[in-house]
This record gives sequence, structure tokens and C-alpha cells, in this order.
Amino acid sequence: MVHSEHQRRAYLDALGIDVWLPRDAAEPAIEPVAAADAGAIGVAEVGGSDWESLSGQVAACQRCALAGSRTQTVFGVGHRDADWMIVGEAPGAEEDRRGEPFVGRAGQLLDEMLRAVGLARDRVFIANILKCRPPNNRDPKQEEADACREYLDRQIALIKPKVILAVGRIAAQQLLGRDDPVGRLRGQPHAVEDIPVVVTYHPAYLLRRPSEKGRAWTDLCLARRVLQEAA
Ligand code: URA
Repeated sequence: MVHSEHQRRAYLDALGIDVWLPRDAAEPAIEPVAAADAGAIGVAEVGGSDWESLSGQVAACQRCALAGSRTQTVFGVGHRDADWMIVGEAPGAEEDRRGEPFVGRAGQLLDEMLRAVGLARDRVFIANILKCRPPNNRDPKQEEADACREYLDRQIALIKPKVILAVGRIAAQQLLGRDDPVGRLRGQPHAVEDIPVVVTYHPAYLLRRPSEKGRAWTDLCLARRVLQEAA
């Protein structure tokens, strides 16, 4: 799916972002590669024995107490060879019901953010720190994040993304092993296993604080720049 400049501006407008941005923040959108089904993986459908083994282990996971309260695990969705990997916190009620990450209101905003940098949802890989929903959407407990970490690390190792976008405090802190707030972690690339990690605000936070969307746009531009420099 190729987006015209007109569409890109419409997405930015929908994000509440002024399109007259400083020159270095207003790089032209990368022309997205036409969506190819080969390599795109859905919720349950994964190809290759490593992926199959990993998704099977996640689906059957009993490593923490969340196994008792989940409807189903939420493995992640997207392209197996994605350049961009998006890491969020944990499934919410809708994600637990549908088995797919970021499908609620926050997910719709995430899709708009991705489209603003020329990316369709099926060109990236989206996963969470936790594969199961914490009851009442409470924050993940450290022992739950620890129990789940191996799954995320294996996903990262299989995908080998060129950039990871950590959305929100929990994702950023857990991925990086830091306890700084997002405001301090964003603005410069970090690294996990030599893969650049860019931190931005969680779309659910942006829904509550739309005035921060401009900063999120700056973060997306940083991630895009980091990826281009790595190419
Ligand atoms: N918030 C997240 O962090 N992840 C989801 O999958 C949905 C909402």
C-alpha cells in the first residue's frame, strides 16, 4: 500500500500534528514497500520451525499466574522480516479477547502513527512485554515481565529488526532495564543486543494528552533516521 503525500498529511492532521515541521523533522515519508503476504504472520499462523516452536510455547505458557486469568495469549502480529518492531506493555481487554496486540483505541492511534511514517501495520512486527493480560489492566509485576522476557528476546532474535520502538514507560523500562521516566529516555537511541531502541509515549497516554503527539512524531522521525543510518 503506497500512501500519497496528501494521505500522509491527512494522517498527520488526524494525529493533530502541524505539517509545517522543522526541516530536519520533516523528512519525506519512506515509500512503503508493497505489502507482500509472504513473511507476514498473523496471530496463530507462523512459518518456520523456530517460530512454530516459540508460538506453541507461548500459547501453552504456565510460567506465571496470568495463565489462570487470561482468555488467550497474545503472541504478536506482523511481518517476520520487519525492519521496525513495536513493543508495548501488555494486552488489554480487547487484545485478550481477540488474541492480537493493539486492537483497541490505542491500537488505532498506533496504526495512525505508523501510517504517518509510511508504514502499514502488516509491515512491522508488534509485540508486548507481557503475552497475557494483567487483570483490570494493572501494571505488569516484575516477576511476570521476567517470566515473559525470554519470549520477547526470542522474537527479537528471530526478526532482527533494524529499530525497536518502545511505546510507553513499562515497555521502555523493561526493555532497557532502566527506571527513568519516558521523558528522560526519549530523544536519543538506546540499544538492546546492538539493535537501536527509540522510546516514545504510549498511544493510550497520547489519547489522554494529545498535546504530546508532536513529541511522539519527533520520536518516530528519530526512529526512521536511526533505521536509515543503519541501512
Ligand atoms: N496496550 C499495550 O501496551 N499493548 C496492547 O497490546 C494494547 C494496549
